[in-house]
Amino acid sequence: MPDIIIKTPNLDDIFEKWKQDTNRKNKKGLEKQFGTKGAVFSLDVISAAETVKDTMKEAAIYFAIKKTIEPVKEGEKEETVKADRVSRIIFYNFKKDVIKDNWDGEELVPFYNTLKTKSCPKCNGRGYHETKCKTCDGKGKISTKITVFEDEEKNKIKKDFEYPCNNCFAIGNFKETCKECNGSKNLYTYNIKAVPFKRVVSGQPVLHSSAKTKYEKEIEKDLHQLIDQVEGIKFNDFKELSNKAEASLGYWNKNIKKTINMAGTDYKTYEKDKDTKIETKIFLFPMIQMFCETKKGKSFEIYSIGSDKKFIVYSNF
Ligand SMILES: [Zn+2]
Ligand SMILES: [Zn+2]
Repeated sequence: MPDIIIKTPNLDDIFEKWKQDTNRKNKKGLEKQFGTKGAVFSLDVISAAETVKDTMKEAAIYFAIKKTIEPVKEGEKEETVKADRVSRIIFYNFKKDVIKDNWDGEELVPFYNTLKTKSCPKCNGRGYHETKCKTCDGKGKISTKITVFEDEEKNKIKKDFEYPCNNCFAIGNFKETCKECNGSKNLYTYNIKAVPFKRVVSGQPVLHSSAKTKYEKEIEKDLHQLIDQVEGIKFNDFKELSNKAEASLGYWNKNIKKTINMAGTDYKTYEKDKDTKIETKIFLFPMIQMFCETKKGKSFEIYSIGSDKKFIVYSNF
């Protein structure tokens, strides 16, 4: 792609535009600062050559972002904990939407209204496990035989003899605390959910200018609305802009370089921010800053932003 070169507006054209604009908005001011007592006031008496004391060629970078704030559902999950852990969790409860700018906590938090009891699946809600007594094989009693000799012949016979198992107190089994629920019978579940941020979608202009004007905010706002009426060079990324800015503008200074770097850093931040989406290309605009003085010695500045074909003018006159 060949380099695009943009022409800055002619200084006389900028001055003329300022004169016409000011004549419409503040004719009295012009008369006071440029008129001669006793003579009929005419715009012709205000000349650029006499008024403009110095001129700086600067640049502005503009792009627009769309900021969308809404709850982030990603990462929502259910947690299961033992009874004695529940009181250590900090729960949240939301009765209304949250303004994200006012929220300084995590974006995913435990929700109080999701806290539920869940029967322990390992012990079926009993709190313990039973194991059979090995001594009595679970019967609770020991069965044995007694040898008895009968009569003179000493006939040997066997008699049953049973006694309670002394290992299990005749119960036949042992209860062991369930390790899953620590004997509490229940486990507890709750959900980690997204803080209900109020959904807000807003378009935002971003302007960086190497001329330190008082109008930065005003220009930013105007450009957002008048972007089609101001000619600049469009770039897809900052690397391309950095490489071609000097050739495109046809002039350069260290403030412009610094401004491009700052705008680039800003752009990257917006790119990384999941709430923002960059909606436009990156515009590079020539900017002319004129330092002026009226016949009566009042200092003021005129700024133009845009190319020789399409530009807008600002002034603090
Ligand atoms: Zn036993
Ligand atoms: Zn259990």
